[in-house]
Amino acid sequence: MTPQQTFVIAGASLAGAKAAETLRERGFEGRVVLVGAETERPYERPPLSKDYLRGELERERIHVHPEGFYAEHDIDLLLGRTAMRLDPADRRLELDDGEALRYDRLLLATGAEPRRLPIPGAELDGVHLLRDVDDCDALRARLDRGGAVVVVGAGWIGSEFAASARQRGLDVTVVEPAALPLVRVLGDELGAIYRDIHADHGVRMLLGTGVEAFEGAGRVERVRTSGGGTIDCDFAVVGVGVQPRTQLAADAGLDVDDGVITDARLESSAPGVFAAGDVARAAHPFYDTRIRVEHWANALEQGPAAARAMIGDGPPYDRLPYFFSDQYDVGMEYRGYATEWDRVVFRGDPASREFVAFWLRGDTLLAGMNVGVWDVGDDIEALLRARTAVDEAQLADPDVPLAALVPEGSGRPAS
Ligand SMILES: Cc1cc2nc3c(=O)[nH]c(=O)nc-3n(C[C@H](O)[C@H](O)[C@H](O)COP(=O)(O)OP(=O)(O)OC[C@H]3O[C@@H](n4cnc5c(N)ncnc54)[C@H](O)[C@@H]3O)c2cc1C
Repeated sequence: MTPQQTFVIAGASLAGAKAAETLRERGFEGRVVLVGAETERPYERPPLSKDYLRGELERERIHVHPEGFYAEHDIDLLLGRTAMRLDPADRRLELDDGEALRYDRLLLATGAEPRRLPIPGAELDGVHLLRDVDDCDALRARLDRGGAVVVVGAGWIGSEFAASARQRGLDVTVVEPAALPLVRVLGDELGAIYRDIHADHGVRMLLGTGVEAFEGAGRVERVRTSGGGTIDCDFAVVGVGVQPRTQLAADAGLDVDDGVITDARLESSAPGVFAAGDVARAAHPFYDTRIRVEHWANALEQGPAAARAMIGDGPPYDRLPYFFSDQYDVGMEYRGYATEWDRVVFRGDPASREFVAFWLRGDTLLAGMNVGVWDVGDDIEALLRARTAVDEAQLADPDVPLAALVPEGSGRPAS
């Protein structure tokens, strides 16, 4: 690799920062430019709905790298700068201040942004989103003041925010159009468990209920629901999912369809332009389809994988999706990719909130989730990768070690 080459990374969050680190770690000696629209140096988002939000973690602990890291590794970190236009034919990336960066390779790590609700009052003061550290600081200050909050949406962000707000003693109402929280990903059985966990902690769960408007004089004072009622509140948090930030890629003519489309080595339809993290919809060799994963571990692993591909040393990215969530004292990890299943098998008593759940279609294991049970992740992953028929009775039996169900020679996941 010649020292004159320039590799540019658009998006200075987890995927982008880990990609920059990997370029240096793998010996790339050219110029590395990491461009980020936010003014904060790259940080991790999971604490923003958990300990940092609750005021239990200091700001210095959320960053991906220590303060001096970028200078020490000769990475040009351009913060508060937004990439506005990409010209893949000319290999140029234009920033908001007019500077044009010539690149030899470009990584799009522009992540995702929260969806907004297109309803009256959504712009009122006191109606919050939760994506970046500024959103979180505003909410952290709100939690300090106490009061009543309405959380719109019982996905991961809404559910974790609700848990943290209850832990801080606020009066919390969750309004969710679906019949159960987290139901799209986890299904009915697990959704019911999470509903009960929140209800046990004193969250009012208004399920099967939409929100029609935020109302108030200048700032939100109440939420009007699809049921015709209103809920008084001091503030509201909207957590209705995210969408990949694909505008830059779409405007440049790259293939985009719910994410920047890439091959298994994370290269987009434009040669020399790669994508990783929440924004990428990558061909996945194991699933033989394109998937986009909006989770921390994917950004953590895909950023480095893209960096390796940029220097021509990238094996196909075939990590299985993984995510975690912490709500109150209930921690979980989920591995795999289940979009359609015909049943969920439990190992252990779900009521104890210490169990493993498996999603199956026919004999095929699609995903596994350990709740309050640890050190089973490698076995679950090995089972998923083995793709052989599983014996349901043994899967459900806590006395049969999971490792014993993994067929001989099917291999362990890479660490
Ligand atoms: C509150 C919260 C809690 C979470 N908790 C969990 C959890 O418990 N478990 C889990 O698995 N996942 C969790 N996640 C998801 C996880 O944080 C994301 O999957 C991860 O942040 C994705 O990283 P990324 O680098 O791909 O994108 P992002 O983190 O979205 O970062 C993209 C960056 O690119 C910048 N950018 C965008 N466009 C441009 C541009 N044109 N020019 C320059 N910069 C640009 C953005 O400003 C942003 O800084 C959580 C997310 C949030 C918001």
